[in-house]
Amino acid sequence: MDILQSYINGEFVDSGEYFDNINPVNGEVIAGISEADEAMINHAISSARMALTGPWGRLSVNQRSALLHKVADRMAEREQEFIDAEIADTGKSLFQVKTIDIPRGTANFRFFADQVKYQGGESFITETANGEKALNYSVNKPLGVVAVISPWNLPLLLATWKVAPALACGNCVILKPSEETSSTAVLLAQVMDEVGVPKGVFNLILGRGKAVGDKLTSAPGIDAVTFTGASATGKQIMKSVADTVKPISFELGGKNAAIVFAEADLEKAITGIARSTFTNCGQVCLCTEKVYVHRSLFAPFLEGLKQAAENIKIGYPLEQDVFMGPLVSKVHQQKVLAYYQLARDEGAEVVTGGGVPVFNDERDNGCFIQPTILTGLEDETRVNQEEIFGPVCHVSVFDDEGEVINRVNNTAYGLAASIWTEHLAQAHRVAAQIDVGLVWVNTWFLRDLRAPFGGVKLSGIGKEGGEHSLAFYSEPSNICIKIDD
Ligand code: NAD
Repeated sequence: MDILQSYINGEFVDSGEYFDNINPVNGEVIAGISEADEAMINHAISSARMALTGPWGRLSVNQRSALLHKVADRMAEREQEFIDAEIADTGKSLFQVKTIDIPRGTANFRFFADQVKYQGGESFITETANGEKALNYSVNKPLGVVAVISPWNLPLLLATWKVAPALACGNCVILKPSEETSSTAVLLAQVMDEVGVPKGVFNLILGRGKAVGDKLTSAPGIDAVTFTGASATGKQIMKSVADTVKPISFELGGKNAAIVFAEADLEKAITGIARSTFTNCGQVCLCTEKVYVHRSLFAPFLEGLKQAAENIKIGYPLEQDVFMGPLVSKVHQQKVLAYYQLARDEGAEVVTGGGVPVFNDERDNGCFIQPTILTGLEDETRVNQEEIFGPVCHVSVFDDEGEVINRVNNTAYGLAASIWTEHLAQAHRVAAQIDVGLVWVNTWFLRDLRAPFGGVKLSGIGKEGGEHSLAFYSEPSNICIKIDD
């Protein structure tokens, strides 16, 4: 059986303590994961600190950029291995992994390798009240050693979204991927090794959140923590970093709404919302979980979405036309099923789905679940307030614009929303009033890596993307030079 190991100071290392890596398609153990112990974490931190002052610290921006392009080149050469590894860990469909997860992983390196070359600074000619003159300018320095903690839902894509800009800005990185999905992170470590990223610059720590994550975030040798994951974990990390006052960047959970106005193109809205609800089995932080439909379109919308859900092909990731594989794990399947039950207990009508598909083969040991549509619940119910993170949405009726804006904003989360309308002025007016980090109009998941990305309220702290990432992963330092007449 394969054993996945941490990568520290340019070497793959093993603690001798293992846990299982499970294939969610059939519940079989596919590899053992060696969980890093405290000594390994400390070694990763000291190696990274050492590397900051070594050859890495002396590379120019252009040299770092060229090295990151080499990382992307090698990832592209090994693309099939990344695809296979991501599918084995997550059970995602081949289509999703091939068109989104892996190409975006590579694109993250290319994008930030280019972007960092254009990172600017500030400069001012200063003249004081008593006539002294000076030139003030800023230079960008790395933060130091950055801990990157990433989730299981888009494993390579979300890890590289942080690793790439952190390295581009000259930091050293310690990546801790989710214990559910370590495989592509191990491949990434191999790639770093192959292209000659200096020892200690990129380190990989494998292990479970509580066991490994906590030790990493509280360590004084870590200069900043960048985290994508659940809001509850974000709260714990915030406490853990408090004693050492580290900068943090948090991309957390969501409870995202879609609004279908009377002025919407109905077909476009049904297709778009089916995609935003069921993509990756609903396991994208940006997925829709609440849909508000204008009374005039409610019945045909609900019927259309039901048809779309029932037409989804669920099955093996490599099977032709499969749109939904399993959820990531048994634990997560049980969590989502508990919400399906809670919806019934809270009085929901289950329009379609609500259970587990039966295959009568090995997949019945896996983590599959039916795409589900609910209706009939009040906004204040737990099902309409808590993030479920499965292929499910609740559909309700609204009558006017002001009402729906208030109802959409009535949540502790603030990540994303989508608006479906052909009325341009309405789209502008409403988009600006939704309390989220990102609003899509007549589309979903269309991303520009230059755009600011990140939620408000319980959905996160700070923005990443383009210059926002560079601003987080570097520290401007002010230099003031006296100008003598
Ligand atoms: P999670 O919070 O359970 O785990 C995320 C990572 O944190 C994992 O690597 C885990 O091992 C680690 N971790 C757990 N406890 C820790 C601790 N005490 N200290 C340090 N690290 C710890 O999240 P998940 O279940 O892997 O991912 C799903 C969640 O992520 C959802 O809530 C989803 O909305 C959110 N998410 C947000 C975004 C975004 O961009 N806003 C993107 C993807 C996922």
